[in-house]
Amino acid sequence: MTVRPDDPLIAGYHRFRTGVWPAQAQRYAQLARRRQQPAAAVIACSDARIDPQTIFDAEPGELFVIRNVAGLVPPYAPDGGCHGTSAALEYAVKILKVRRIIVLGHANCDGIHAMIHGPLRNARDFLGPWMDIAEPVMWPMPGPGSGEALETAIEAAVLSLSLSNLRTFPWIRDGEKAGHLALSAWRFDIGAGELRTT
Ligand SMILES: [Zn+2]
Repeated sequence: MTVRPDDPLIAGYHRFRTGVWPAQAQRYAQLARRRQQPAAAVIACSDARIDPQTIFDAEPGELFVIRNVAGLVPPYAPDGGCHGTSAALEYAVKILKVRRIIVLGHANCDGIHAMIHGPLRNARDFLGPWMDIAEPVMWPMPGPGSGEALETAIEAAVLSLSLSNLRTFPWIRDGEKAGHLALSAWRFDIGAGELRTT
C-alpha cells in the first residue's frame, strides 16, 4: 500500500515528530533502554472517543492499557483458548507486577448500546460470544425506565461485573487479599469530561 502524502495518520505522525518528540526524546530514549515498568493496568473500551492515556494525563510508560469492545473483563477460564484480555491481565500481574488494575467504563458506550438493542446479528463470529460476557447483568435489565437512564444503569452493572470477574482470577484475588494489588472500577462521562471513581 502506497502511503499518500495527505494521509491523516502520517500527517499526525509528522506533528508528533516535530511538535512532541523533541521535548520527549530523552524520556523515550530512557524507556527504550529498560523493560516497561507501568504502575497500573487499565482495562478500557476500544471506543475511539476515549483514551486512558489522555484521560489520566499519563506519560508513555506509565500505563499498561488493555482495550476491547465494551471494556469487558471475562471470567477466569484457562481452557486453552485464545483469551487476549486474560493473557494481557496475566502479563500485567505476573510479569510486570502492576500494583493497580483499573476498569475504565464510559458513558454512551456503543458496545453496550448494541447489547441492549441487538444490532449484532451480522457480527456473531467473535463479537456475539464476546458480548455474552455481560449476559449475567443484562437479563433482566437493571435500572429504571428506558433510553439513556437504562443504558447508564447497564453500563454501571457491566462495570461491577467486570470488577467481580477480575476477582475470579486466582492471582488477582490473591494479590488483592495480600495488599499487593488494588482494584478499581471507574466511569468516564465523555460529554461532561467527568470521572466517577465510585
Ligand atoms: Zn464503549
